Amino acid sequence: MTSAEPFPPPRLGEPYLLTPGPLTTAEEVKQAMLRDWGSWDDDFRAMTRDMRDRLLAMLGPGNADYDCVPIQGSGSFAVEAMLGSFVPRDGKVLVLANGAYGQRAATTLDYLGRDKVVLDKGDYLPPRGDEVARILADDPAISHVLAIHCETSSGILNPIEEIAAATRGAGRKLLIDSMSAFGALPLNPAELECAAFVSSANKCIEGVPGFGFVIARTSELEAAQGRAHSLSLDVHAQWAHMERTGQWRFTPPTHVVAAFVTALRLHEAEGGVAARGARYVRNRDVLVSGMRAQGFETLLNSHWLSPIIVTFFCPADPAFEFGRFYELMKDKGFIIYPGKLTVVDSFRLGCIGRMDEHVMRQVVEAAGDALAEMGVASAAPPAKALEERKKLAA
Ligand SMILES: *Cc1c(COP(=O)(O)O)cnc(C)c1O
Repeated sequence: MTSAEPFPPPRLGEPYLLTPGPLTTAEEVKQAMLRDWGSWDDDFRAMTRDMRDRLLAMLGPGNADYDCVPIQGSGSFAVEAMLGSFVPRDGKVLVLANGAYGQRAATTLDYLGRDKVVLDKGDYLPPRGDEVARILADDPAISHVLAIHCETSSGILNPIEEIAAATRGAGRKLLIDSMSAFGALPLNPAELECAAFVSSANKCIEGVPGFGFVIARTSELEAAQGRAHSLSLDVHAQWAHMERTGQWRFTPPTHVVAAFVTALRLHEAEGGVAARGARYVRNRDVLVSGMRAQGFETLLNSHWLSPIIVTFFCPADPAFEFGRFYELMKDKGFIIYPGKLTVVDSFRLGCIGRMDEHVMRQVVEAAGDALAEMGVASAAPPAKALEERKKLAA
């Protein structure tokens, strides 16, 4: 299936960002920032209310018990706010880590002085439900499980249903970092029995960076009163203030919120989570099949590939040099991401943002041209990379 109308390209001379995120946004989203808003004013309050309602509407049926609390800052601020507000000071968290964001959550818990245990699966292996069940059975002190929905550092889509079932089965609470998944992948917190999850403005909803948001069960929000370690990252205080006054507690990123509401309208007009996810799947499929046809190999086998971002191994050919590849891709209009693997060299290409499969075809073509210009004869990865990948099948 192909979409009929290609999206208009970014403004003249602007590259596409294959780096989620910040990511490529629609012209309308940029335009929405060309106005100043008074944070106390009724118009801005109405905009905040509209934003929260639209986000809650994305959860699907059965989620009337959940509320949405925006938090100023990047996504990590929202993760920190969630952990500090929902994990009691005498709680203990099982962190399911398979990349940089799981590690960051573990570091955050250290800063917060919350007890934790980390299931560290390395660069990209998925944490499985049976492992989670075993750890929870062996350690009754664990009160919460923290899962990363899509681990953006490798692009793996973690098996969130399996993890939720194991957590629920053991009677513990589930917290999810769905930063790079919410808006494109279904996430029904009531069905998963998730206490709270977080996402941010500049990922799958295609806004600009400046705030994140926590979506939590109302009972969890109530229980969080007085628990937070931090004034500005106190989710309960922000929620209570917003409920009472319609305002953010401290200066809101007004232009970012205006851009985000426009992004939410575009999300709805596109057909919501299902349509957004389907576009990203097409982006990924065009990208992956095109890159494979050029001889590149993905880190993950097709089963674990998210439609968010894809890790490719760097070619073994000595003529390949990432810095040069980056510059050549930039010259052709695409900003790419270095990889985050510890064992082998890699790079990442994002599938999210205001881009469609027509753009992804251009990305593939640009990569092929860049290889030719570098004099790389084969894009095949080193044997070590393929050995690494075999671990996934085991
Ligand atoms: C983007 C992202 C974050 C937050 O990163 P910031 O740089 O703080 O916005 C957290 N977790 C995941 C999985 C992410 O993709």
